[in-house]
This record gives sequence, C-alpha cells and structure tokens, in this order.
Amino acid sequence: MSETLLHEIVSARTEVVTRIAAAAKGAGRDQASVALVAVSKVQPDERIDAMLATGQRIYGENRVQEAEARWTLRRAAYPDLELRLIGPLQSNKAREAVALFDVIETLDRTKLAIALADASAKEGRTPRLYVQVNTGEEEQKAGVAPQDADAFIAAMRRDYGFAIEGLMCIPPAEEPAGPHFALLAKIAARNGVAKLSMGMSADYEIAVMFGATSVRVGSALFGARSTAP
Ligand SMILES: *Cc1c(COP(=O)(O)O)cnc(C)c1O
Repeated sequence: MSETLLHEIVSARTEVVTRIAAAAKGAGRDQASVALVAVSKVQPDERIDAMLATGQRIYGENRVQEAEARWTLRRAAYPDLELRLIGPLQSNKAREAVALFDVIETLDRTKLAIALADASAKEGRTPRLYVQVNTGEEEQKAGVAPQDADAFIAAMRRDYGFAIEGLMCIPPAEEPAGPHFALLAKIAARNGVAKLSMGMSADYEIAVMFGATSVRVGSALFGARSTAP
C-alpha cells in the first residue's frame, strides 16, 4: 500500500470524524452515539485496505454480489468487521444477504420480510434490521411510504418477530435534506425505534443535528467513485 494513498485516506477519515464530532457537540449529543459507516461500493481494493488500516470497521455496500467479492476473505482477517447492506435487496438474494451482512437497512416490503425470515432460519443468524422509508415519496426509490410506515413496522414486529433496530432514508437529491431527516426521526420516535441511518457525504453533519445514529459516507472518505454506483 502506498504511503501517499494511506495518508490521503487517513486525512479524509480524520476530517469526517472531526466534523461528526463537531456536529454532535453542536447538537448537544455524545460523539460516540454516531457511527460512521464507510460506503465502500465500487472502491478499488487498495482504498479498502487503506481504510481498514485506519481502524475503520463499519462498512456499507449496496449490492450483495459485489459485497461478497469484496468482503468474504477480508471478513476472516478482520473478525470485528460490521457489514451493512444499504441498497435494495431482491428476495431471491435474501439467503446470501443474511449470510454476509450484520445489518440490513433496506427492509421495505412483506415479500422481503418472508424471504428474510426464511433465510434467517436456514442460516441460523438474523441480521439487525432497519426499515427504509421513502420520505420523499419518489416513484423510483425504494422504501415504505411515510404514511404506511407505522403499520409496516407494527406488522414486522407482530408477524415476523423482527426487532426493528432502526429506520433509514435517502432524501431526494434536489431537496434540502433537513425536513426528510426530521420526518424520519419523528416516525422513529412515535414507533419506539431507536436508530436512525441518515446522511451521506453532502449532508451528514445536518443528519447528525437531526439525530442520526449512523451516517453513510462514501466519496468524502474514499474519494469520488470511478464508476456509477
Ligand atoms: C452510495 C451511497 C451512499 C454514500 O454516498 P456518498 O455521497 O458517496 O457519501 C450512502 N447511502 C446509500 C444508500 C448509497 O447508495
């Protein structure tokens, strides 16, 4: 691993961690209550290994097969890794996802819940689960509609015995993120859901002000992705 690359990655991470700490302090929150999820999709191996060398242990991926290729061997080398699926999951990939990921942040439909329950029984492990909420009600975006969230969370608990750990959202790119983060926090509070996955490179400090317990940061940590996600 080149010294220059390592230096670049160390300083990028230090800056993000410092900004999270400042945002947390400004919001009267404990810095330790915000987890940094390094979004490693599409990044080259040398950048992943440099990030691992900084001590960063929580990573987010948005595709099951790509994540398997990147993490299966590294997982054995770093037993304290935490892998989170933050992209849409097809039911027919549920088994692979349950085998690999510690957290699945994109539960948003009954068919997927059934597949995850089945896969968890077969694999003998249940990932921690987040419900994705489509706060901007965008056609093309995954997630349950805000007005359906309460009933969906209740059904997940009642019908599948899932302990819903958190909620996740991806606000519309062209809108201010704050109102979307506030909406997600409100839905979580009224449903007794503890964790909030919100905020990306462009808006993670705002997310921390609105109560994010994890932020998903890719390009601000690794540099721009060379291929589309
Ligand atoms: C790619 C991705 C991110 C990270 O995006 P950056 O803008 O590079 O920080 C966060 N969340 C999800 C769901 C993503 O797909």
